[in-house]
Amino acid sequence: MDCLGCRIANGLEPDLNIVYENEYITCVLDIEPFNEGHTLILPKKHYWDVDEMDAKTAHTVMEASQKLSALLKRLYRPDGIRIIADGGKFNDLTHYHMHVLPRYEGDGLLWGEPLHPDGAGERLGETRRRMVEELAEKEPMLKKAMDTLEFLSQDAAARMAYDARMKALSDEHSRIESAEEKGRSETSKEIAIKLLERGIDLQTISEATGLLLEEIKELRQ
Ligand SMILES: [Zn+2]
Repeated sequence: MDCLGCRIANGLEPDLNIVYENEYITCVLDIEPFNEGHTLILPKKHYWDVDEMDAKTAHTVMEASQKLSALLKRLYRPDGIRIIADGGKFNDLTHYHMHVLPRYEGDGLLWGEPLHPDGAGERLGETRRRMVEELAEKEPMLKKAMDTLEFLSQDAAARMAYDARMKALSDEHSRIESAEEKGRSETSKEIAIKLLERGIDLQTISEATGLLLEEIKELRQ
């Protein structure tokens, strides 16, 4: 294995401090920890970026981050946990790894401000449109969902109208369902009575109508 990340993930490097492992991932202490308990989660298969991982591996990485977060909270009582994973050329291992690290107020770890702000904050609408269009190209169903979301995010009045409509639809649906349920049961009883009149045995009537033996006995009276 040429990849250092692959060797770490598969336990082939010396002096690893593996804290948790399963068939998909390995959790190992960072050799240059930012704080006590700073851990890396690596997939055992070679992936560089998050979008390359198969769903099961990605899911298992996320589960491990939850497990580690809970563990670090219990052990070190941090003020918070940071989870990050740098991709592309910023991934020094060239093998996917998610950092899970405890944070403390004043620990000096920063979310850096951009050196050359390009005004992206003023173009959120345009940015969103480009991203949604690109997504929708790959997943047409998404477009419909996003249109609904866009409508919902317009204003409170639109949202209330939407909620009222959804509630009405849901009420109507359950009304129809319960009427159908009642209808089915009434029809079954009518059939059962006719069969009883013809002297058909209870077991056969029960099988034909789906009614319980008790229900059919009541009809006989
Ligand atoms: Zn690798």
